[in-house]
Amino acid sequence: MNKAVFLDRDGVINGKGPGDGYITRWEDFRILPGVAEAIRRLRDGGFLVMVVTNQRCVAKGLLSESELQEIHRKMVVTLRRRKAVIDAVYYCPHDGEEGCNCRKPKPGMIFQAAREHQIDLSSSWMVGDDCRDVETGRAAGCRTVLLTAVASADSRPCHPDAIAPSLDEVVGLVLNCSGAVSSVEIRR
Ligand SMILES: [Mg+2]
Ligand SMILES: [Zn+2]
Repeated sequence: MNKAVFLDRDGVINGKGPGDGYITRWEDFRILPGVAEAIRRLRDGGFLVMVVTNQRCVAKGLLSESELQEIHRKMVVTLRRRKAVIDAVYYCPHDGEEGCNCRKPKPGMIFQAAREHQIDLSSSWMVGDDCRDVETGRAAGCRTVLLTAVASADSRPCHPDAIAPSLDEVVGLVLNCSGAVSSVEIRR
């Protein structure tokens, strides 16, 4: 069985887009500092790295599904040039009202990834900058990390297993934690 780190996209791999925050053009896709290095280290540490992202902007008609796929293709190629391999990208193009099984906080994308890549979810992680990501990871049986710059008690109502200020900091946490969730140090 494989183990994986599931990464949210916006706010984890890249910065949010201008205005309403949606990324609808590759020109607005800015990979955050340290991300390529972090992905490389996670994979060197034996984890598959997968992106799981809600992209309601497709349902809203802000970009087509093929345009979204093109952005993801460029993201994967750009990161690979920096020796950072993304094993798979899963996205939910639906709107909240469509009742799909893939839109986070539902764990459908993680379950699909687990089926397609033989992933043991109990030794895998979900990393995101939103409580919805934490809920998704927990629903899938993964350990969870909330990325947030301000880690006060109030900022973690969703009870992640750990809090980290950047993906860079997540790497050490994930690679040094081979035991149970309870052994994860909660960063403050
Ligand atoms: Mg996000
Ligand atoms: Zn969906």
